[in-house]
Amino acid sequence: MKERVLKLKKEKNAVILAHYYTPFDVQEVADFVGDSLELAKKAKEVDCEIIVFCGVYFMAETAKILNPDKKVLIPHSRAGCLLADMITPEELREFKKQHPEFTVVAYVNTSADVKAEADICCTSSNAVKITESVEGEFVLLVPDQNLADFVASKVKNKKVIGWKGYCPVHHRLKKEEVLNLKDREAIFVCHPECRREVRELADFVGSTSQIVKFLTTVKNKKVVLGTEEGTIFQIKKQAPSLTVIPAYKYFVCEQMKMITLERLLKSLELERYEVVVDEEISKKALVPIEKMFEVG
Ligand code: 13P
Ligand code: SF4
Repeated sequence: MKERVLKLKKEKNAVILAHYYTPFDVQEVADFVGDSLELAKKAKEVDCEIIVFCGVYFMAETAKILNPDKKVLIPHSRAGCLLADMITPEELREFKKQHPEFTVVAYVNTSADVKAEADICCTSSNAVKITESVEGEFVLLVPDQNLADFVASKVKNKKVIGWKGYCPVHHRLKKEEVLNLKDREAIFVCHPECRREVRELADFVGSTSQIVKFLTTVKNKKVVLGTEEGTIFQIKKQAPSLTVIPAYKYFVCEQMKMITLERLLKSLELERYEVVVDEEISKKALVPIEKMFEVG
């Protein structure tokens, strides 16, 4: 299957972008593996006719918004992000009406129509920097309450509040579970989508790429990993001396795992499922995404 994917990719002038949380064999055939910010940046740069986006829907949608003239495919049409589904554009419009003094920062884990209502986008790797960059004292960060709390702890000169959403995969992790696994020799790293009580125990908090990068500076350690298990594939490649254990059993984003090698192959063969974004929404959503890139 891998050979067929690679052959078809060449024939169709396609580029495969994959998130760290996708299955290992998908990451193996991808042209580029990264976190959500890196993948969005790559989607902006790639020179090809087709982008096959191995990740969840909002990521593929972002790639399409950045490349309206390219064909963007996602191997499974229902691979959505459960966190992104926790806010609707109607809810956000209502908040803005009630609280016009707030600047809205939308995590990229949102649908295009929610991004279209935001002032600027952010990812888990640049959320602090983006929030610091906005004018005005009041910031609403949607939809993740934990990321917002993490940002609020770092940005002291603004009032940052979060939406009520959470990622069920990261929010599920509790302090006790980490304490049970983390002996004195081990280090603990986690994603900012984890609860505060969990982040407080961490030696490092960051996006998936930031975690992998941080771990390349560590040698011969046991690592308790506070993010999705798919990340282990890149950690093993880049920091082979580490022993990595997930912070809880089956730390898995089921949506990401829908993107199997078999479905990737079918996606290339049949050129399915094409990501389509309403033109008006796409133009509006592009503004906060581009603003994020301008801040850097
Ligand atoms: P990253 O920004 O680290 O890629 O995280 C995206 C995500 O969905 C985490 O659950
Ligand atoms: Fe969404 Fe959570 Fe899966 Fe990330 S891990 S894609 S936030 S459901």
